[in-house]
Amino acid sequence: MKKVVVLGTGGTIAGRAQSGSDNVGYKAGEVGVADLLASIPGIQERLQGTQLVAEQVAQIDSKDMDWAVWGQLVQRCEAHLADADVAAVLVTHGTDTLEETAYLLHLALTAKALRKPVVLTCAMRPATALTPDGPQNVLDAISVALHPASHGVMVVCAGAVHAATHVQKRCSYRVDAFDSGDAGPLGWVEEGQVRWCHALPPAGAEHIAVAAPRWLQAPRVDMVMNYASAGAYVVEALLEAQANGSQVQGIVVAGTGNGTVNDAMQQSLLKAVEQGVRVVLASRCALGGVVRSAIGESPFAHYPGLSAVKARVRLMLELAA
Ligand code: ASP
Repeated sequence: MKKVVVLGTGGTIAGRAQSGSDNVGYKAGEVGVADLLASIPGIQERLQGTQLVAEQVAQIDSKDMDWAVWGQLVQRCEAHLADADVAAVLVTHGTDTLEETAYLLHLALTAKALRKPVVLTCAMRPATALTPDGPQNVLDAISVALHPASHGVMVVCAGAVHAATHVQKRCSYRVDAFDSGDAGPLGWVEEGQVRWCHALPPAGAEHIAVAAPRWLQAPRVDMVMNYASAGAYVVEALLEAQANGSQVQGIVVAGTGNGTVNDAMQQSLLKAVEQGVRVVLASRCALGGVVRSAIGESPFAHYPGLSAVKARVRLMLELAA
């Protein structure tokens, strides 16, 4: 019998509040993933004879997601996807850092592993809410996981299917909290049927291999933002900390507009590069990313099309590799 493995990591989907009418005053990561799945009406029909296997990898609010849990997730995904009986892996996750974990899995899992789908899903309302959105999201994620065309890392929320590269949390409260910016969603799930709008992107082409021992220690990559009167204080503090022995290996800048920084920060970032720190520019704008002139060179790297938080994930993996 084919299996779908569900790796639980916590989040609001597993959250509990004191009252059913409380949508925000809850504690994330309370309900175990096996209990969560057992409480979903219609889940057996949706599985079409596939066996569901639940495994708790973590039980956290995803604001606390870290390198160690990422390492465990990558290793558990690799192990399950290598099993010929496993058709797909689902990950239940908090919405706050879901796009980071999705992009991390997109880069860290091998092309061979990603011939099968890895589908992340979540909820904006706790399991105890009057109308929790988690159960429907899980049912939709199963439909995507079992679709014959599915492969690679995808996110399913509020009936939409998003690619790991483009998905972003856009709203702090609404149930339909994610979008894929200019790219748009890959498709929609309607009454268990998946309606694709785009061909799925190739999976595994950008793979960054991280050896198992490297997951024991996170590469230190910090983020700074440019804003009116930002100056260079934060970058200077990072360099000072480095001089005192802290291992700052990378800085990602959420720059203004097209990845611009104020003059003082520019000088400090140049100093950081001289000291061996990898500096990557991104944009604090929701759309567009950093677009370079065809002429002229910048002293700083950028990853076309990536948001600042995803640029940080990529830089961490490059440093770990
Ligand atoms: N703070 C929660 C989390 O990310 C929010 C959510 O899941 O919606 O775990």
